[in-house]
Amino acid sequence: MGKVTGFMEFQRLQEASEAPQSRTKHYKEFLMHLSDADAKVQGARCMDCGIPFCNTGCPVNNIIPDWNDLVFNGQYREALDNLHSTNNFPEFTGRICPAPCESACTLGINDDPVGIKSIEHFIIDKGWENGWVVPQPAEKKTGKKVAVIGSGPAGMAAAQQLARVGHDVTVFEKNDRVGGLLRYGIPDFKMEKTHIDRRVHQMQGEGVKFRTSVLVGKDLPKEVLSLARETMSPEQLNKEFDAVVVAGGAEWPRDLPVPGRELSGVHYAMEFLPQQNRVNAGDKLKEQIMATGKHVVVIGGGDTGSDCVGTSNRHGAASVTQFELLPQPPETENKPLVWPYWPTKLRTSSSHEEGCERDWAVATKRLEGKNGKVEKLIAARVEWKDGKMVEVPDSEFELKADLVLLAMGFVSPVNSVLEAFGVDKDARGNAKATTDGEGCYLTSVPKVFAAGDMRRGQSLVVWAIREGRQCARAVDEFLMGSSVLPR
Ligand SMILES: Cc1cc2nc3c(=O)[nH]c(=O)nc-3n(C[C@H](O)[C@H](O)[C@H](O)COP(=O)(O)OP(=O)(O)OC[C@H]3O[C@@H](n4cnc5c(N)ncnc54)[C@H](O)[C@@H]3O)c2cc1C
Ligand code: SF4
Repeated sequence: MGKVTGFMEFQRLQEASEAPQSRTKHYKEFLMHLSDADAKVQGARCMDCGIPFCNTGCPVNNIIPDWNDLVFNGQYREALDNLHSTNNFPEFTGRICPAPCESACTLGINDDPVGIKSIEHFIIDKGWENGWVVPQPAEKKTGKKVAVIGSGPAGMAAAQQLARVGHDVTVFEKNDRVGGLLRYGIPDFKMEKTHIDRRVHQMQGEGVKFRTSVLVGKDLPKEVLSLARETMSPEQLNKEFDAVVVAGGAEWPRDLPVPGRELSGVHYAMEFLPQQNRVNAGDKLKEQIMATGKHVVVIGGGDTGSDCVGTSNRHGAASVTQFELLPQPPETENKPLVWPYWPTKLRTSSSHEEGCERDWAVATKRLEGKNGKVEKLIAARVEWKDGKMVEVPDSEFELKADLVLLAMGFVSPVNSVLEAFGVDKDARGNAKATTDGEGCYLTSVPKVFAAGDMRRGQSLVVWAIREGRQCARAVDEFLMGSSVLPR
């Protein structure tokens, strides 16, 4: 514990950010990491309370009180080593993690929690700025070969861990660039893509091979095939590799089956968002879905919806409205009831601050338009009675809508890769595999393991990193009989 009375003396400090009116003119990150002096003070707020609930609230079990103390004492290099011992990619989580650790912070019971995420952001940026993040190649090679399908945070974490214990790892990615949803989903203004590129270079230095534009599967339909330059069948992979990790994410978006869904101007969020990321990366698109000058309605109140709001505002939308089916949650949680768990409460993202009308307990009934183009959305208010959603009588209303973005979450993985391998699925269509005990992360198919959203369903980057790490240990144990990798 850096300073015994720190938690009584110092206030929580938010990271500085560029003002909404100027940051919406570009797609760059707008949050600035803490200064050395501010990081010291924020680290001093940690009480080292004895039972660090933050450590279990964090899905990768970051050893938070220890690095808070190290930051307070200016031992940044040691703080970085500590942080890397549990998290392969803190620059991702330090930027885009919703920070369940902070909901579990003991100081948070009667005060603002320690700014854990901002300290994590500070430590890793310090590491990169000082050139401390370098490849850590294995001392000895094992001669075993592992294929990882999918280059999102789960696949990247699994690949890095496996390479560091000497396996030859090849990552197959159907997209033209590495990163999964970090690359083609999460907007640059939340996380610039240079962070992924730097890690790819580091991992290449550790021996990981990346093969992009390679789709793994078989009997693939034409529209799926057009995504990739090359295909690999499960038979080829099984022949060439000693183990396979499927980490293909959960890419199947939930649809809105209402009249008018077929009108032009109605798109999945994941048709809209990746295009802007591609343009930011310098790609020339034949056509781009633009929100410029349009009345935009985003259906779905989660992270994806909020990213659509931020991107629409950067395009220069005439108005942006976001609907959520559920009622508005309370502004603050009932701490004694929910601590140390993740509470349901009103969350206002940086994109909301940039301008957006939010409306809750609204169900879209139909979309209407002229000449095949959407022009308005007809919705009704709903309420929940005995766990069932019922429409409020006479509550129908309409809204001008030139662009409707569907951001209602993801149903399951796109099945082709699981079906190609013959992997058993759970009731939700995810790859069936446990996370504990013998045979954890192993699917129903010998030597095929699963991790990340493809196993657990749509989730968070930090959970994908956790699963990638734990899965790597399971693969290493399978290949070598034992493993020194942490779980
Ligand atoms: C718009 C959006 C915003 C989000 N914002 C946040 C956020 O702010 N914070 C947060 O923590 N989480 C966020 N998430 C969730 C987070 O991005 C995911 O939980 C996380 O990326 C899952 O990681 P993954 O590695 O399991 O899968 P993914 O990131 O989905 O990566 C899977 C990869 O596998 C590839 N692939 C799939 N099938 C094949 C195949 N057959 N052959 C070859 N390659 C294949 C895909 O192309 C993809 O690149 C967001 C999600 C979305 C959609
Ligand atoms: S990874 Fe997320 S939960 Fe863990 S310490 Fe960082 S911000 Fe908190």
